[in-house]
Amino acid sequence: MSDCLFCRIIAHQSPADITYEDDAVVAFKDIYPKAPVHQLIVPKRHIASLLEATEEDEAVLGRCVVAARRLGEAAGYAERGFRLGGQYRAPGRAGRVPTGISTSRAGRGPPQRTP
Ligand SMILES: [Zn+2]
Repeated sequence: MSDCLFCRIIAHQSPADITYEDDAVVAFKDIYPKAPVHQLIVPKRHIASLLEATEEDEAVLGRCVVAARRLGEAAGYAERGFRLGGQYRAPGRAGRVPTGISTSRAGRGPPQRTP
């Protein structure tokens, strides 16, 4: 079994509340949500960090963003907006953390621009 938690979730070997899945992407609810809607979207292909992403990953990373749009709409936040975030941890630190995108802080709407 992989030592990567996200890969185990993708393989359905570790429990997760999966909210979306297609041939390239899996999304699931964060077990420690920081907002009313907080989901992680990970490519099925293991990418340890955005710092390891290459041109070959462009398509799957784009698929993560499109999945975020679908999830944001499905959660009812198309009008209010939501936030996307990514993992930028150095490879090898704090375990192998795949690239992730979350619709975190969706309940608060997007950050407000100050005049
Ligand atoms: Zn992995």
